[in-house]
Amino acid sequence: LFETVELAPRDPILGLNEQYNADERSGKVNLGVGVYYDDQGRIPILQAVQKAEQAMMSTAAARSYLPIEGINTYNLGAQTLLLGADSPVIAEGRALTVQSLGGTGALKIGADFLQQLLPQSKVYISDPSWENHRALFERAGFTVDTYTYYDAATHGLNFEGMIASLRTMPAQSIVVLHACCHNPTGVDPSMEQWAQIAELIKERQLVPFLDIAYQGFGDGLDEDASVVRLFAKLGLSMFISSSFSKSFSLYGERVGALTLVTSSKDETSRVLSQVKRVIRTNYSNPPTHGGKVVATVLNSPELFQTWATELAGMRERIRDMRAQLVAKLKEHGVAQNFDFVLQQRGMFSYSGLTAEQVERLRQEHGIYAVSSGRICVAALNSQNIDVVAKAIAQVLK
Ligand code: PMP
Repeated sequence: LFETVELAPRDPILGLNEQYNADERSGKVNLGVGVYYDDQGRIPILQAVQKAEQAMMSTAAARSYLPIEGINTYNLGAQTLLLGADSPVIAEGRALTVQSLGGTGALKIGADFLQQLLPQSKVYISDPSWENHRALFERAGFTVDTYTYYDAATHGLNFEGMIASLRTMPAQSIVVLHACCHNPTGVDPSMEQWAQIAELIKERQLVPFLDIAYQGFGDGLDEDASVVRLFAKLGLSMFISSSFSKSFSLYGERVGALTLVTSSKDETSRVLSQVKRVIRTNYSNPPTHGGKVVATVLNSPELFQTWATELAGMRERIRDMRAQLVAKLKEHGVAQNFDFVLQQRGMFSYSGLTAEQVERLRQEHGIYAVSSGRICVAALNSQNIDVVAKAIAQVLK
């Protein structure tokens, strides 16, 4: 049966983790991951999460199946976080949200539903994009192409190129956009640029699929949802995949959501019935624990405030690490200008390091980064920042 099965290539980032774990050097640093670490190098357990769990423990509840679409208060909480409490889209019954297995699960449910809806359409992802986007949409049966995005020369956005790409796409093409904190580059369009992108998507009748896995890590919870709200304001029907993995530091709980914005209440109920079929035939219904934790926090004003403050702390620490990295590179005599690192948003930075330099970082210094030059700024801390800056300075010589 399995004689002809070929060995699949290793996942580039998880493969890097394996290499890191096997490395016996004491000063090793892993900047390859997509995880937020605190200044002690630990994955934080948020106070808001602990308090919600304590409350849940004190009233032990039976663990029956959840509805196919998940916990209602979770879905409404996630939806409100994206569209805003005063959203006309919500008031008009034009949004539906289902609990999903992380942001990845939301993308997969969305992709499967789109395959049913628009089987002839092509999917376009940014060049570069999160490495799972392409594989995920291909698995769902789509042909995946890219649109121009990153400009290596400026370490910024190639906005003209992006607009030109959007202009070439046939109507009903599916465009996957990172609504904030672009992974892997850290480069986001400005709000003025987003306004032009959104107008063009509307004019050309493209289908936006907004992926937002880092809400709260850029400029703030509301600020980071600006793009979602801009698209909603233009009356666009769209897909939104969101994730609480990072913002709640609940990676293993698989807490995400798929939100669809439709053009009428009637459409919403028909669309929801179809999305539920997709879920039912994939995994039937989502798990209880993580969803309940997040729902508890989102629906308690006190816990919400605790969470928002903790999230702001994570965001500010990352900003501080960006500033320190740039300053320390200068201190260690790096002549190149790294100020672009300060403009980038979220956990990642496309550092501009070449694959060769990344390889030297690993071999000579035990510092692990993705070969594209992507580093996780959220893995820097006051203990390792000096070592990292010094090593980067050495490989740049
Ligand atoms: N989209 C993007 C852009 C991501 O970076 C990630 C996580 N690395 C996801 C989706 C998936 O999120 P989750 O871990 O919640 O499945």
